[in-house]
Amino acid sequence: MNRRFSFLVSGFSFLVSGFLFLASVAALSAPPAGAAAPKLVLAIVIDQFRYDYLLRFRADYHSGLARLLDDGAVFTDARYIHAATVTAVGHSTFLSGATPSVSGIISNEWFDRESGRTVTSVSDLATKLVGGTPVATGSSPQRLLVSTVGDELKIHRKDSKVISVSIKDRSAILPGGHMADGAYWFDNDANAWVTSTYYRDTLPGWVQQLNKEQPTSRYLGAKWLPFDAKDHSGKPFCTMVAGTDERFCGSIEATPWGNEMIEEFAERALAEENLGHHATTDLLAVSFSSNDYVGHAVGPDDPAVRDISIRTDRLLGKLFDEVDRRVGKGNTLVILTADHGVAPVPEINEARKMPGGRLSAAAVSQKINDALVARFGPGKWLLANAGEMIYLNLDLVHAQKLNEAEVERTAADAALQQKHIARVYTRDQLQSGAVQQDEISRAFSLGFYGSRSGDIYILQEPYYLFGTTGTSHGTPYGYDNHVPVIFLGPGIKRGQYSRRVAVNDIAPTLAAILEIEPPSGSAGRILTEILN
Ligand SMILES: [Zn+2]
Repeated sequence: MNRRFSFLVSGFSFLVSGFLFLASVAALSAPPAGAAAPKLVLAIVIDQFRYDYLLRFRADYHSGLARLLDDGAVFTDARYIHAATVTAVGHSTFLSGATPSVSGIISNEWFDRESGRTVTSVSDLATKLVGGTPVATGSSPQRLLVSTVGDELKIHRKDSKVISVSIKDRSAILPGGHMADGAYWFDNDANAWVTSTYYRDTLPGWVQQLNKEQPTSRYLGAKWLPFDAKDHSGKPFCTMVAGTDERFCGSIEATPWGNEMIEEFAERALAEENLGHHATTDLLAVSFSSNDYVGHAVGPDDPAVRDISIRTDRLLGKLFDEVDRRVGKGNTLVILTADHGVAPVPEINEARKMPGGRLSAAAVSQKINDALVARFGPGKWLLANAGEMIYLNLDLVHAQKLNEAEVERTAADAALQQKHIARVYTRDQLQSGAVQQDEISRAFSLGFYGSRSGDIYILQEPYYLFGTTGTSHGTPYGYDNHVPVIFLGPGIKRGQYSRRVAVNDIAPTLAAILEIEPPSGSAGRILTEILN
């Protein structure tokens, strides 16, 4: 890598002056750490952004996404290889390259057998929230078992700064890693940007200042109108005023203004933390959350999704311009992906003669419990549900001296008898590898972490959803696991790459470019095809 970069530097310096030429020769023989590396890595996640949004709305992208698509290395078949395809897992995979089976981040939340309660991927009772709701519990990366690119960067380059931001705590914390200088998210109850005592005891002055400016007040009573409406007579996608005939947006996160606030925060962070101006590479991780809230509510085929995608293109363009202005053109390596896709709304799919429908998780659980009662006697056999993971009441299983695998099998058979359940995996099967040998089973194996995972995993048929409204994601099917992966910046060969890659390949590729150790749990490969 050094040689390649140095060659570029020397080619350029030939044209400029002998002094620069000498400098580049020195770089060739003994490269100072990070000398040829980008000044900034801008690591972007769009929360819930299917790959096909790049194709479907391409004609409407003229700014940030257009720049990435025109000048970047674009992977057309990048996949998540794990189940579950949800926010925490996508964000932990992004800059660690690790699968849940190694990172320990198996879902947004799971049942913690030790404490007997449900925990989130980042909840941490030992921390407090800083800057938001007083005495609220904070969050930290304590459950992430592996390192991230930012961690390795900080270990290898002591001058590097790592900052991450999102509206969701998990989406800021998990890409940032353990050693981040700051991770910031939005506390909707307090209407304020916050962090936790894991990182620091008070907000930096510039974040306090941003909070004083009350970023959400600008959007009070606002209506979200179509981006390309000629005037203001168009029907709004939603309104911030409750109780009207128009759809109520809910909170600020569920509107494009949530993304605007994140972008504003990123610009401030760039300036105030002096990112891109340290002796070695800095990393700014930004996760745009609003696309996800909108997508859950209306589904991928709704005009509101097209609208927020176009607005995301414009917002990325604004951010890229600011980065270029502050850090200098050609000094930033941008990487963009999404944490997962999303399924079509079942009713819309039905109307176009596609399969799909709605299922009740409670009904499936009830059938499982009934079957366990019928075979093993009365009792509350299921302890908890987390997503499509079910936890058995092991105290009851052990008290009756039952074989765990047999109880699991009974539960699985009951679930499989329900309509539109494609597969059920048991803990025993996943641990022993006794599963059907294909990509779907592999995804569940890669999603399994013994001490945190449930005992029964339920997978619905494609296009079937648990839940009564809107839509969701989480399966290893294409609509959930196919996402954009685009690199843009110095040393990256532009073009379209159609070979299938995994999102796990991002982290080791960044590590190679930065000449640091790949993160400790990385399962990916270096995408050498895009490196100059
Ligand atoms: Zn998400």
